[in-house]
Amino acid sequence: MTERFDLHTHSTASDGTLSPTELVARAVEREVDQLALTDHDTTAGLEAARFAAREQDLRLIPGIELSVSWAHQTLHIVGLHINPEHPAMQAGIARQLDFRRWRAEEIGRRLARAGIDGAYDGACGYADGDLVGRTHFARYLVEQGHARDLKQVFKRYLVKGKPGHVPGEWATLEQAVGWIRESGGLAVIAHPARYKLSATRLRQLLGEFGDLGGAALEVVSGSHSRDDMLRFGQLSQTWNLAASSGSDYHGPENPYRDIGRLPELPPGCRPIWESDAWARCSEAAA
Ligand code: AMP
Ligand code: MN
Ligand code: MN
Ligand code: MN
Repeated sequence: MTERFDLHTHSTASDGTLSPTELVARAVEREVDQLALTDHDTTAGLEAARFAAREQDLRLIPGIELSVSWAHQTLHIVGLHINPEHPAMQAGIARQLDFRRWRAEEIGRRLARAGIDGAYDGACGYADGDLVGRTHFARYLVEQGHARDLKQVFKRYLVKGKPGHVPGEWATLEQAVGWIRESGGLAVIAHPARYKLSATRLRQLLGEFGDLGGAALEVVSGSHSRDDMLRFGQLSQTWNLAASSGSDYHGPENPYRDIGRLPELPPGCRPIWESDAWARCSEAAA
């Protein structure tokens, strides 16, 4: 029987709505065999997830989703099989969280200037730990009636050109891939279809990513259409990258993107879980 993988999920340690423990329970229920917890710029949920998975028929893969600034855009790089305790990773995370803290306060100030008071405190109310992201602002703004749903909040307030948008610098691609690799992990470009890159930019990204030792493209993603999957499945082969698969699950409020319910990788792709590097990581963790 083929194993079921979900290599991209979020918990309350970042902007998911299930705790790491609840997330693991749901993945077990959904018969996921290998689950990666990949919270935004934090590994704070991994210990609880590992604990929850310890006597289950589920392999928990320690992961992260790092925010990267590249060519005036934000990209997300997933790290799989990382060692969360590695000093390079922890130093990198500390830097990302510093920027997040400042950015969250700045989003609050900018929204206040646009006539929305108390957004920073409101967002903190939706955050579990010290990581406050745009999703937490979005939940508060919906609660306050400023928009109908999360999508609308982003569109009206939180993206480029809108009052609550804060530009700024995340890690470079080189740093993010470096932290992942130094901590023993495999780097994956998350949901590549989301970035709207020109063909030239995309070639540049895939070239740089390969040169830096990146491992895979997330070919199957909860945010990819069937065409996106086919296109990036092809590109993974052209660029000699493995293919990954993850729901980008953020919680049960988003029923069309459930955990562990993913289509198969398109034919011809090289699954990351069949790579030699994956086998090495799995053995090292065992
Ligand atoms: P941040 O890393 O704090 O900038 O927040 C990015 C997160 O916001 C993503 O991981 C998504 O969970 C969420 N997000 C981004 N765009 C949208 C959107 N249009 N609708 C709903 N959620 C979004
Ligand atoms: Mn998110
Ligand atoms: Mn992402
Ligand atoms: Mn994600």
